[in-house]
Amino acid sequence: MSTTSDDHAAAGDLLAVLRDILGPAEEPIQLHEPEFAGNEWAYVKDCIDTGWVSSVGKYVDEFERRIAELTGARHAVAVANGTAALHVAMILVGVRPGDEVIVPSLSFVATANAVAHSGAIPHFVDSNERTLGLDPDALDAHLQQVAEKTAGGVRNKVTGRRIAAVAPMHTFGFPVDLARLLEVAGHWDLPVVEDAAESLGSTYQGRHTGTFGTVGTLSFNGNKVVTTGGGGAILTNDPEIGRRAKSITTTAKRPHRWEFFHEEVAFNFRLPNINAALGCAQLERLPGMLARKRKLAAAYRQRLEGVSTLQMVDEQPGSAGNFWLVAVRVLNADMAVRDKVLGLVNDAGYHCRPVWTLLHRLPMYASAPRAPLPCAELLEARLVNVPSSPALTSRLK
Ligand SMILES: *Cc1c(COP(=O)(O)O)cnc(C)c1O
Repeated sequence: MSTTSDDHAAAGDLLAVLRDILGPAEEPIQLHEPEFAGNEWAYVKDCIDTGWVSSVGKYVDEFERRIAELTGARHAVAVANGTAALHVAMILVGVRPGDEVIVPSLSFVATANAVAHSGAIPHFVDSNERTLGLDPDALDAHLQQVAEKTAGGVRNKVTGRRIAAVAPMHTFGFPVDLARLLEVAGHWDLPVVEDAAESLGSTYQGRHTGTFGTVGTLSFNGNKVVTTGGGGAILTNDPEIGRRAKSITTTAKRPHRWEFFHEEVAFNFRLPNINAALGCAQLERLPGMLARKRKLAAAYRQRLEGVSTLQMVDEQPGSAGNFWLVAVRVLNADMAVRDKVLGLVNDAGYHCRPVWTLLHRLPMYASAPRAPLPCAELLEARLVNVPSSPALTSRLK
């Protein structure tokens, strides 16, 4: 527990850090802003000039090709948003109504919603203090306790339901301990869906996040590293899953010049060409944006060294983050201290935010099965994100 003087120390310390790094906030400084400084306008204009604005067009194919090239995934399918990508990913790995899917409680609501959209129930497991992602050892210990292997798959002995998949999420772009996680999932024969919505450009042992699981998903929402306005992608190395991903996100229509024949109940989750055009231009600028985000993170890291109340969340050995959102630990804080810190810096014009309310606290997931979540609860009270837009490097001294 912190004392009152500690509260003021952490809040004042963070404000001093922000002022030193970013200068005075004459205008409010946003948490993360998109940047359109390359071919964005030219490509979007091309869509309008040629009339190819909707669900068919050359930019969709080109965007998928570029995502595959960038991530190293054999197949990339562009879709309407990251939640749709996750929803379809659940179906692709065989999640069925009435199943359970392991997800971290510390995540954006989409991770659990995608499970619910597929008719399944999220089953919450704790996060790791260092990676901020699903903790493989906590997962293993929990499965040892509640699960058993049967002919029909992994069965939750408490609820009687099948546990059908594990969906880790790379929080703020920091990769989870994928080697250990794949080992645990492999031991239980559970497919892995990687929610890589926040980790475009992040690698684990040199390989892009989202390409380790059976299926991985990306988001191109307006607040992410790269934006298409709204958009997402499904990644896989499995040709059959790749084919099916394309089919069930495009109404499962059999290609034909005039006939409308649909093979199954499917989705219209297409990414429009005009959004893909924006994405193509954004991807061209990704390396530059990542370099500037890294430079900004280095400035925060250097300034935070020696501040006794605060600690920067950083990359783990073998991992490279994209520093989508720089995250700072307010040491020993509880929720009240955290909110005091946030109040002071937001009042001063620096838009900082806490992590999401833990998913098991949301009304629709309050009765979902869960493991003990001590680390997620500590992280919820201590983590604060600070302004992280690539454009902010122009304010560095
Ligand atoms: C952004 C995000 C998504 C997907 O969000 P959309 O807005 O649907 O593109 C999914 N999971 C996490 C963890 C995210 O941060």
